[in-house]
Amino acid sequence: MAPVCTPAVLLRGHDYGDSSRILKFLTRDHGLVSVMARGVRGRSGKGTTTVASFASGELTAFVKSHRDLHTMKDFHCTRLREGLARDVLRFAGASAAAELVLAHAEQEPPSGLFEAVEQALNGLEEAPREDLAGRVLAGLWTITEAFGFAPQLEPCVRCDEPLGPDEIGRFDFAAGGIRCLRCGEDAAGPRVGPVARAQLAMLLAGEVPTGLSHARQHLGLVSDFVAYHVVAKPLKSLRFLGDVLPLDPEVEVA
Ligand SMILES: [Zn+2]
Repeated sequence: MAPVCTPAVLLRGHDYGDSSRILKFLTRDHGLVSVMARGVRGRSGKGTTTVASFASGELTAFVKSHRDLHTMKDFHCTRLREGLARDVLRFAGASAAAELVLAHAEQEPPSGLFEAVEQALNGLEEAPREDLAGRVLAGLWTITEAFGFAPQLEPCVRCDEPLGPDEIGRFDFAAGGIRCLRCGEDAAGPRVGPVARAQLAMLLAGEVPTGLSHARQHLGLVSDFVAYHVVAKPLKSLRFLGDVLPLDPEVEVA
């Protein structure tokens, strides 16, 4: 049997037996692939850097249909992403992105997901400190959108009328978007004003708004949206992210 070769990013790994590891990759060509990597531990002590989480490269594996676990032949690492370990927020953002993708394990990943995950991880590794919270949010929103679940920011999800430039709407998680002021009167979702709407549009496009404030409220939005539409249960790593995101940026003025 000929092995398949595909660009891949390692999302998670755990030890198996004395010398092996089970690795979960998101691949560009075959979706999520779990492989047994035999004999990768022990020989070089802790030096198995090529199989560290969030590394990207070229995966060669013997993939059999109707199997859950395949056999890795080789992983040629092209980007290690060591920078993600520089601080806890970078790592927490990457972990949340990975958990979001892995939560979809039973389904066939859509095209574009691999690229969205790569870009999210690159952004998290490279972002300057002041953009990091926004980078975390942009990563989560772009991955959510790659799954086909972008929220509707405009027009109103109920009456289809456009929202005015100063109008304060309300998020309706069940409907998957924002209600206008009038339709939002009896809604329980969080209020979303014009600034937050513009910021959401940028984050969905993978951009970080300058002076992004209320990072934790933004995380609440994406977490609730993801819990409603993408995965059935709240993700642990999103809760942890909430604890490490900056609480109140200095740029915020009344
Ligand atoms: Zn409306």
